[in-house]
Amino acid sequence: MQTIYDYDLKQLEDVLAVYGQKPYRAKQMYSWLYRKRAVSFDEMTDLPASLIEQLKEQYVIMPVKEVDRQVSHDGTMKFLLELADGSSVEAVLMHFDYGESLCVSSEIGCNMGCTFCASGLLKKQRNMTAGEMTGEVMYVQKLLDEMGRRVDNIVIMGTGEPFDNYDNVMRFCRIVNSDLGLAIGARHITISTCGIVPRINDFAAEHVQYNLAVSLHASNDELRRQLMPIDKAYPLDELMKALKAYSVDNHRRLTFEYILLHGVNDLDQNAIELARLIHGMNAYVNLIPYNEVDENGYHSTDAKTALHFYDVLMKHGVKATLRTRHGEDIDAACGQLRARHEKEKADQ
Ligand code: SAH
Repeated sequence: MQTIYDYDLKQLEDVLAVYGQKPYRAKQMYSWLYRKRAVSFDEMTDLPASLIEQLKEQYVIMPVKEVDRQVSHDGTMKFLLELADGSSVEAVLMHFDYGESLCVSSEIGCNMGCTFCASGLLKKQRNMTAGEMTGEVMYVQKLLDEMGRRVDNIVIMGTGEPFDNYDNVMRFCRIVNSDLGLAIGARHITISTCGIVPRINDFAAEHVQYNLAVSLHASNDELRRQLMPIDKAYPLDELMKALKAYSVDNHRRLTFEYILLHGVNDLDQNAIELARLIHGMNAYVNLIPYNEVDENGYHSTDAKTALHFYDVLMKHGVKATLRTRHGEDIDAACGQLRARHEKEKADQ
């Protein structure tokens, strides 16, 4: 059965109109779903009983079920969540000084084929619906409610390429951003893409305030192509052109993600090239420690080299942050926990 989380407010009004209901009912339901975090339609006591019965026949509320959880000594929690069709996705909750950040998946598996990433070990099976993504957030929010905490930030950096599932991802953002619901501010929602240029152009044209992060990971096309096949379809000059246009047109600062891979992309020359590549852009670089994935042979850069790389960037006028590692004692790399579970299932 479909989850009622699938609808943004406007769509929910349309759905309820079919049942002969006025638009204000959608607002009432939004409040039940996202503010009071109802998990059954029976709780919605100000809705007509007949409507509740109709909704129960057609919809469920919570579309996910927890099947595994790993908790790191630093508090990072990784959830493996099962969907109605039996497929599973990961969501990761990280605690920062500025609040709780939830990393959500956007597709079941991923077809982008980045060679360093565990998610690509399992090909894409299908898109996630907006409601399934919302389910990831609501499931974790309900746990946080017990501790009086809330999901402050959402990063769409789990398994999947959000711009390969554009419409559902944008709808998901609208749902969690809605003032009448969770009201997570647009600037607290980050979409991370590997660089699908036509969708970056679409995103630019929508003039929404969500943050855009771009996985760069390389300072030239030759290197990027080895790491990220998407570079063959959309090489760096096209990507940078689209990003500059987006940033200027929307007055927004971009984030570039750059994982440091030992001996691959962490040389001085790479830092200098990277500085040249993004020169003049309103952007900063997030240097990310690599979570090693057994299957692919890449190693993470040691702390000293990472700091040196950061220094070279700074010297060349690039604003950068050196991120600390989260959850290194659990299967924290994108797709690792899920890949292990799927393998165990297959081995049974
Ligand atoms: N497809 C999107 C979002 C999902 S990946 C994208 O490419 O941005 C989220 C981020 O995690 C990307 O920057 C990705 O390159 C990075 N990543 C993937 N595997 C990783 C690993 N093992 N260690 C560290 N970062 C990883």
